[in-house]
Amino acid sequence: MKSIYSLSLDELTSDMIAMEQNPYRAKQIYSWIYKKNISSFDDMSDISKPFREELKKHYDFSLPKMENVQVSKDGTIKCLIRLFDGELVESVLMHYVYGYSVCISTEVGCSMGCKFCASGLIKVKRKLLANEMLGQVMAFNKYLYDFNKSRISHVVLMGTGEPFDNYDNVLSFVKTINSPYGLEIGARHITISTCGIVPKIYAFGKEHLQVNLALSLHAPNNDIRNRLMPINKRYPIEEIIPAIIDYQQESGRVVTFEYIMIKDVNDSLECAKELVSICKKTKSYVNLIPYNKVVENDLSRSDNKQVNLFHKYLLANHIKSTIRKEFGSDINAACGQLRVKKDKQ
Ligand code: SF4
Repeated sequence: MKSIYSLSLDELTSDMIAMEQNPYRAKQIYSWIYKKNISSFDDMSDISKPFREELKKHYDFSLPKMENVQVSKDGTIKCLIRLFDGELVESVLMHYVYGYSVCISTEVGCSMGCKFCASGLIKVKRKLLANEMLGQVMAFNKYLYDFNKSRISHVVLMGTGEPFDNYDNVLSFVKTINSPYGLEIGARHITISTCGIVPKIYAFGKEHLQVNLALSLHAPNNDIRNRLMPINKRYPIEEIIPAIIDYQQESGRVVTFEYIMIKDVNDSLECAKELVSICKKTKSYVNLIPYNKVVENDLSRSDNKQVNLFHKYLLANHIKSTIRKEFGSDINAACGQLRVKKDKQ
């Protein structure tokens, strides 16, 4: 028995063919689940009763459960998602002028160990299945529907875990939420963030998806990046940049460089100058992120004045850039703060 939510449309179509059904059945089933919010085969009235019984033998509608909902004073919502084996991950819902965006986790823990990140303090236990990622979106969709009849419009894969460390499940998840028969979240409303797993950046370009790619750069040279992000010793900047250029040639998309501003580490104008030279080699956009304190390290947030100077330097050098608005720092839901604190029950 597997969860029907774990299947991309292509996978469900293959299953239908294997069951000697018209492939179109997959679209019918998808439509019932994602368009009409049906979670029982009995309600799928255009499918014959014998085949509904057959479907019940193969699939169930299991989804992870939402627990421990916390609401920030700025309206950001963080919750724990309990997975089928009892493991917990965190997801965050943010309200922008353009709609609701959910930040989901892709692994239980993270093996990348970025120094500025609370998630990296928890050793990776396992990768999430596609339906466990979908479960985070569905849980918030249900929450929003009950709250004000709205739904998720944007999904970012920037919670706990490195999405490209879980490539196949992430891709299956993205295809499901993007499918016109599924949740129909536009590819350009989906963002995958990677710390720079070079072979997967090349592979992702070949997928020719219009999904946004964000690279967690956070440093303008290998010296600083090696100190902040152990992955840089395996895939240094001089390997990442050609991969980004290749991705851009394949996809035609601009890449966002995420850059956490850390006091006296990566926030000097010398660093800004090096960052400009990286950006000029690529079609990129820089997202400057105020650092959020993690007690286990000795890093601290750059002064606002320094962040503004850095930002102005980028703009003066024709690099598109913004300073990211902060969400949910009072409930430890801001960038780099996610970690599961509640013990398993
Ligand atoms: S920043 Fe991302 S890749 Fe790095 S430790 Fe945190 S969750 Fe993992």
